[in-house]
Amino acid sequence: MANPKKVKAELSDLISYGEQVYKLVFQLEKKLPKSKAGQFLHLTLDDFDPTTGYWPESRVFSIASCSDDRMRVTIVYSVKGFYTKRMEERLKIGSSVWLKAPYGEFIISNYLADDETAVLIAGGTGVSPFIPFLNNIPERVKVQLNYGLRNSELMIFEDEIQNAVDISKIDLALYIEKNNKPINWNNSVTVYDGVLSIKNILSDVKNIESSKYFISGPPLMIDLFMKQLIDSGISKEKIIIDEWG
Ligand SMILES: Cc1cc2nc3c(=O)[nH]c(=O)nc-3n(C[C@H](O)[C@H](O)[C@H](O)COP(=O)(O)OP(=O)(O)OC[C@H]3O[C@@H](n4cnc5c(N)ncnc54)[C@H](O)[C@@H]3O)c2cc1C
Repeated sequence: MANPKKVKAELSDLISYGEQVYKLVFQLEKKLPKSKAGQFLHLTLDDFDPTTGYWPESRVFSIASCSDDRMRVTIVYSVKGFYTKRMEERLKIGSSVWLKAPYGEFIISNYLADDETAVLIAGGTGVSPFIPFLNNIPERVKVQLNYGLRNSELMIFEDEIQNAVDISKIDLALYIEKNNKPINWNNSVTVYDGVLSIKNILSDVKNIESSKYFISGPPLMIDLFMKQLIDSGISKEKIIIDEWG
């Protein structure tokens, strides 16, 4: 596993999706160490002084993508509390931040054997750690992505997900509470009205026994889905979580 490094970065792109959800692209001063799909970084808005080594207050965000030269990194965040509010107020194109990465054990491919299905369950911005995995799905692994959105405009990684459906032939189920922008994809996408439902997810899984279940999102969602999966007969060892607590 690569040792985490601290790197200064400049915000080079900022996209607002509404409802206080943002995608941020940072240009780095130095290469980030190699990360694996599912890992995260620490971001601080305050200046870090490498001579003291004191790391200021920070929050962690899943690495949604990292360029091949490792000089550009993308995260997605939604405003939740004090720190993400501060990010919303402070971050403009050209702003400097410090990042340290990579961290985390939610490395999806590490949990999968040949011919297993990865059942990915993502609430909102919780889809971020799945994106690098979808861009580079190991051979002989099948993928079923279940993605819950408050409204269809919050579909953050539309191109990447569409590519995964078209090229890697993943199964995709979208759960949309408010379908205000029609999804014009091909027939292989199932669109449900409303919130993610473990009952529907399991009825879409082709082989329950040879599947692993990956859940990413806020702690309340994880706790609920974990319980529902276990109550439905899925053993705990087959459930892997990325809890954003
Ligand atoms: C592995 C992982 C990946 C995540 N990925 C994402 C992501 O991709 N996108 C996203 O939007 N969110 C992500 N989160 C959640 C994110 O890190 C924030 O916790 C969340 O946005 C809460 O918002 P806030 O910091 O504004 O809330 P705050 O109210 O400021 O704090 C919320 C939590 O942060 C922690 N905290 C409080 N003070 C400090 C401090 N001084 N130093 C360090 N931690 C403190 C506490 O646990 C607190 O409950 C992830 C979390 C984890 C654990």
